[in-house]
Amino acid sequence: MNLKPIMETKNNPNINFVDAKSALSWDEYFMLQAMIAAFKSKDPATKVGSVFVDKNNHQITMGYNGFVAGIDESQVPWGKDKSAPLEFQKYGYVVHSEANAILHSSRSLEGARAYVTLFPCNECAKLIASSKVKEVIYLSDKHQETESNRIAKKIFELSSVSFRPLTFRPEILLNLTEHLQNLLSDI
Ligand SMILES: [Zn+2]
Repeated sequence: MNLKPIMETKNNPNINFVDAKSALSWDEYFMLQAMIAAFKSKDPATKVGSVFVDKNNHQITMGYNGFVAGIDESQVPWGKDKSAPLEFQKYGYVVHSEANAILHSSRSLEGARAYVTLFPCNECAKLIASSKVKEVIYLSDKHQETESNRIAKKIFELSSVSFRPLTFRPEILLNLTEHLQNLLSDI
């Protein structure tokens, strides 16, 4: 412990200039936002989230995969068994997270960055590229062997939308848990 004389401390103009830095990079911050958005999805099998951000690091819009807005959800299925007709599969009724984010944006997405928990499908890639989003940052690319994924990448390459994966620093999730526990202990 620093036991400087009181007068010296009192007159020290640097006393409040302590070292401080955010625990998170902007990339990590917005990917966590996208992960929280995914957590909101009701889909029992696949929860996907996305957040679109402007050049000043302000969030423009967010989305997660869910049924058509306003639909009576008791009348449509969450199951994905493709042995049933499309009318009785979730795929007939679900709107993807990126499509929801774009649909519900009240501002232009030109020049925006998109943070997505899963690499976009070709249908969402069409919307992203047509909205003039400039960069896609993704967490998982687990469908990279599929035709939809190849088409999505082709769309991005042809329309100059760059894309890159994001890997969290290992300490981040630990720090986040500690942070949440600190906040909750204040209640
Ligand atoms: Zn999609």
